[in-house]
Amino acid sequence: MGSYIAPDFKRQRQRMVNEQLLNRGISDPAVLDAMSRTQRHLFVPEALQPRAYDDHPLPIGHGQTISQPYIVACMTQLLEASPGMSVLEVGTGSGYQSAILAGMGLDVFTVERVRELYFPAKDLFRRLGLLGIRTRIADGTLGWQENAPFDRIIVTAGGPDIPSPLLDQLADPGIMVIPVGKNRREQRLVRVFKKDGGMTARALGNVTFVDLVGDHGW
Ligand code: SAH
Repeated sequence: MGSYIAPDFKRQRQRMVNEQLLNRGISDPAVLDAMSRTQRHLFVPEALQPRAYDDHPLPIGHGQTISQPYIVACMTQLLEASPGMSVLEVGTGSGYQSAILAGMGLDVFTVERVRELYFPAKDLFRRLGLLGIRTRIADGTLGWQENAPFDRIIVTAGGPDIPSPLLDQLADPGIMVIPVGKNRREQRLVRVFKKDGGMTARALGNVTFVDLVGDHGW
């Protein structure tokens, strides 16, 4: 009989937090705490579990990816969220980003358009006891009108523009983080602030996300 040594995911996770997040300037204690606790390896296909904490995105099937840990941390930190706020995520994918937001005490609403990803993510939330995460299968570029406005909105797929329904459904004050780019393979991460009836958008670094597909996407 061969001996099988189970990978020490907890240790890998701590290493990820130290080397990929803390060392690169992620400083929000709530983000670091949630990423230290959330079992990322459960959100990737089984064959890729040994690489779950590596410094890159991983395929999750159907041409989609789970974002690199650093990008998840960056976007989450940019939301400047506090417990009890409502947040809409467009692009559930593996469910990892939602789990991080829920772990920070946010009231999470997440929308996915691909059935083959939607159902496993929903099931995983249930198995992990993340019962507060509200899921929906739909075109997230239309937002989720019944639960709007949202204090925070995070879009984890890239489209050519900022979908107008999402701007409408952002609370005042509110913050949205979204990758935007006319070139399909490269976007700028944009942070939108809504305040006192006005809106300002600031472009940050370059990122690469999968396509945001929908009425207000590609
Ligand atoms: N946040 C995810 C990243 C998934 S990749 C995670 O933590 O794993 C982006 C996801 O956005 C894909 O699953 C893709 O199917 C989904 N997507 C793309 N366009 C969408 C749309 N209009 N509405 C909802 N989901 C969309």
